[in-house]
Parts: sequence; structure tokens; C-alpha cells
Amino acid sequence: MKTKFTILNDPTARNHAYMMSKWAIDIEYACPKCGKDRVVTWLFPDQDMLYEDECCNQIVHFEGFRDEGN
Ligand SMILES: [Zn+2]
Repeated sequence: MKTKFTILNDPTARNHAYMMSKWAIDIEYACPKCGKDRVVTWLFPDQDMLYEDECCNQIVHFEGFRDEGN
């Protein structure tokens, strides 16, 4: 199941992440289990990102998208 997210910073506010990927963005989402606000940097948002969230050890899955803006 895909995890809903909202974009916080595009591009990312983290210089280190931006140096690794100029496409990096910061996103905010709710923990699938407890609903707590979570923030993560997504280095390659044109590709899906899937990992185990350390908040409640739930798998989160963000669906990659293309930014058609530029
Ligand atoms: Zn949680």
C-alpha cells in the first residue's frame, strides 16, 4: 500500500542531500501505525522509495513521480 506524503521542501533544505542528488526533496508523512508526523529526505523522487520506518517499524512505500514543472 502506498503511503501518502506532502512535500515540505523542493529542493531539499539539507545541503548534504542536495549534493548527493539535485532532485532531492523533503517530505512529510504520518506514521502508518500511530499517525505521528514524520519527515524524511527523498533523494530520487522519480523512483519509488520503500523502507521500514523506525517510528513503529512499519513499512512505508512512497510512489515516485515526475516533476513536470521544469
Ligand atoms: Zn509510529
